[in-house]
Amino acid sequence: MGSQTQNPNREKEEEQNLKPWCLQDFEIGKPLGKGKFGRVYLARELKSQYKYIVALKVIYREQIEKYSLYHQLKREMEIHINLHHPNIIRLFGWFPDPERVFLILEYAHGGEVYEQLRKIGHFTEKRAATYIASLSQALAYCHEKDVIHRDIKPENLLLDHEGRLKVSDFGWSVQMRSKRHTLCGTLDYLAPEMVENIAHDYAIDNWALGVLCYEFLYGVPPFESESQSGTFRRIMKVDLSFPSTPQVSTEAKNLISQLLVKDSSKRLSLQKIMEHSWIIRNSDPTGICNE
Ligand code: ATP
Ligand code: MG
Repeated sequence: MGSQTQNPNREKEEEQNLKPWCLQDFEIGKPLGKGKFGRVYLARELKSQYKYIVALKVIYREQIEKYSLYHQLKREMEIHINLHHPNIIRLFGWFPDPERVFLILEYAHGGEVYEQLRKIGHFTEKRAATYIASLSQALAYCHEKDVIHRDIKPENLLLDHEGRLKVSDFGWSVQMRSKRHTLCGTLDYLAPEMVENIAHDYAIDNWALGVLCYEFLYGVPPFESESQSGTFRRIMKVDLSFPSTPQVSTEAKNLISQLLVKDSSKRLSLQKIMEHSWIIRNSDPTGICNE
């Protein structure tokens, strides 16, 4: 019994799915945010019977061509489209028109982790540990596929409707097999080997996890300074101190101290982070913690 003769609708749907996406396939809703090279909108796809809600990221070609970033964008999309993990925003597809490139992304209903952090100042240990565990799992998955994210920071972490952490923004990610020499990322999250511009590898994401864990618990990044050169100096010295308030457990400080280590080969591995007693004791195994 051929299903094709049984279900003409399905045949039509399959044919539709093979067609490349175009702007007419979407109903555009409210703006969700503004990126460096364009905007992100809430959108509903009209092609499938499900009418999925997605986030449509619009990037202006003029902008990316001005900075000769077209190849980087293509690489970002090729890497991203192959990543399928519950803690990574899915890229479902992309399509160009003469002026723009559109990325069809999974919609993160809960917005940015950064916004939550600014709203409440700092997170509970339970919430911080849950996010760090989710992130470690997402990064372990990326590293297995030879992908380094390189731009881990609260602005690039989104939350879904239940509060599950989702890594977004693969603008600086890179697929690699050997150590790289590129200066990239946001200052506060730079690892010493990137400040010195010497070869770096996966361990830069582990350093960023240490910075993030600190910022989650204290509300400010560890090497903050009035000036860029001040931040650089503090990173190079690994000038790390733990304020007395808010009160943070010794176990959490222990994890942070084992990640913010200058010698990248001595930083705690992702596997060891997931096995760390602070993570085991505090993280919620569902990946959801809103307290
Ligand atoms: P880039 O580094 O490529 O220029 P960007 O950081 O400037 O990117 P994005 O982070 O991709 O831009 O998007 C800007 C903002 O739009 C985000 O900070 C977030 O608030 C919102 N946003 C982006 N993607 C999504 C999504 N999938 N779901 C919900 N909101 C999103
Ligand atoms: Mg971003």
